[in-house]
Amino acid sequence: MTPFKPTSLLAVAIALELLIGCKPAVPAVAADAIYVGGDIVTVNDAQPTAEALAVKDGKILAVGARRQVEGAHKGSATTVVNLAGRTLLPGFIDPHSHYFSSITVANQANVFAPPAGPAKDIPTIVAELKTFREAHRVPKGVLIQAYGYDENAMPNGVGLTRDDLDADFPDNPVMVGHVSMHGAVLNSAAMKQYGISAATKTPPGGVILRKPSSNEPAGLLMETAYLPIFASLPKPTAEQEVAWSRAGQMLYAQAGITTAHEGATHASDLELMQRATAAGANIIDIIAYPFITDLENVLAKNPPGTFGKYVQHLKLGGVKITLDGSPQGKTAYFTTPYLTGGPGGEKNWRGELPFSEDEVKAMVKKVYDLGLPLNIHANGDAAIDLLLKAHEYAAAGDLSRQRHTTVIHSQFVRRDQLDKYVAYSITPSFFTEHAYYFGDTHILNRGMEQASFLSPMRAAIDKGLRPTNHTDFVVAPLDQLFVVWTAVNRISRNGVVLGPDQCVTPMEALKAITLNAAYQYGEENSKGSLETGKLADLVILDRNPLKADPMAIKGIKVVETIKEGKTVYKAP
Ligand SMILES: [Zn+2]
Repeated sequence: MTPFKPTSLLAVAIALELLIGCKPAVPAVAADAIYVGGDIVTVNDAQPTAEALAVKDGKILAVGARRQVEGAHKGSATTVVNLAGRTLLPGFIDPHSHYFSSITVANQANVFAPPAGPAKDIPTIVAELKTFREAHRVPKGVLIQAYGYDENAMPNGVGLTRDDLDADFPDNPVMVGHVSMHGAVLNSAAMKQYGISAATKTPPGGVILRKPSSNEPAGLLMETAYLPIFASLPKPTAEQEVAWSRAGQMLYAQAGITTAHEGATHASDLELMQRATAAGANIIDIIAYPFITDLENVLAKNPPGTFGKYVQHLKLGGVKITLDGSPQGKTAYFTTPYLTGGPGGEKNWRGELPFSEDEVKAMVKKVYDLGLPLNIHANGDAAIDLLLKAHEYAAAGDLSRQRHTTVIHSQFVRRDQLDKYVAYSITPSFFTEHAYYFGDTHILNRGMEQASFLSPMRAAIDKGLRPTNHTDFVVAPLDQLFVVWTAVNRISRNGVVLGPDQCVTPMEALKAITLNAAYQYGEENSKGSLETGKLADLVILDRNPLKADPMAIKGIKVVETIKEGKTVYKAP
């Protein structure tokens, strides 16, 4: 009989303790925090759910069974976070919005139509502007701005004009931003300030709405007629830059977003963002796409080699080109006419482009030759035809290489065009919220059949694409659960289900704002799902969208947002 040795006794004791779990061994790597006590939706098909998630140094240390994760990683300094029945998911990744606008809208009146805002009619818009003027004590002569105006939501489709604004605002320039972000209604003082009059010619690709049987501008300016005004709007002072940037990012963090998108960055905007970044303003990641018109200016200080890398949470993602406008503004470019005519009553109106085919080809080739990802805005099927032609020209010889080309909106893409996306490794970033906000308008403008194939997420997924889905903030509010709700339900304001065959599952809708969005940015190795080694970018929701009644998804609330292990937002 072999006598017991003290070492083997110790070994037996440790093994026994581990087995019965009364005294865990000191973990090899102790986590900063371990989340337990609620559903964990990993968005990782290989391990869809988990009981526990451990975080260390801003990264995910382990995902799995609670006993194993706690056994291996619970140290004396580890915080155990009890989800108390709430649901943990990867932080939302925003595939397309206008972050830069968030910096300024904190200082504008919200005139979104209900439910996103109060503006149910023109008198309400005027009242909101007056309330804003009083609340902010705006002095005479200073510009007053609003955002979110949608003429399609106005009773009887009668839009806001300068005359509606002039009576109450004789001394302040007023600009009521159109919900598409591609235009605004100006009062007379603003027209005077920006030199718009009966003598102003409408530029190609632009809209200046005129008064009936007159050349006098009525108020609404869109697209190229509006762009110069937009570019010259007042920007925050140096002192305001950091505070406003943080306030803008808080709008994203409140929505559970840990990576934000800046979808058309002008050179001066980028400089502001870089100054704020250097001053430590950023609480989440921001990916900026400089506008093609400003590319030379941007490249002078930011050569192509600096793209694709985060510097203090700010990354240059690639280049933005905008082809057409918006379908609700009737500026999206189609192969067939709008059933309701043009924005100024034009017959056989198909929308139009500010660029020739050769110009678009040259722009796309320039971006591809620089080796930079391209984000290209195209809504109508004719604009999409043109971008596919431009791709064939610019990518000749290697059409299918993954260049991270993303078609922003792709709303009225045809089935044959989706096949080309597959062949050319092009990703659609859809906008299913349009089904709700503008679906009824699209039915009138484009007919039921085409409207039903709006942002066809089901068809895209079935063809093997990895679509993303966005708010286009400030076009729609930052509300990712509403994005999911519209992808799952596709219900219009009037209750019409727009293309029931294009509805997707809640998990597919979640992927479009997490893993697929990470893929759109080439960041799928570090973001988009809860997997060991990825960033601890997390969101906690009050309910699990995979278990909720699909119609109730829009009521799910963000409880907490965590960026690289640090809480950046907690619901009050
Ligand atoms: Zn946009």
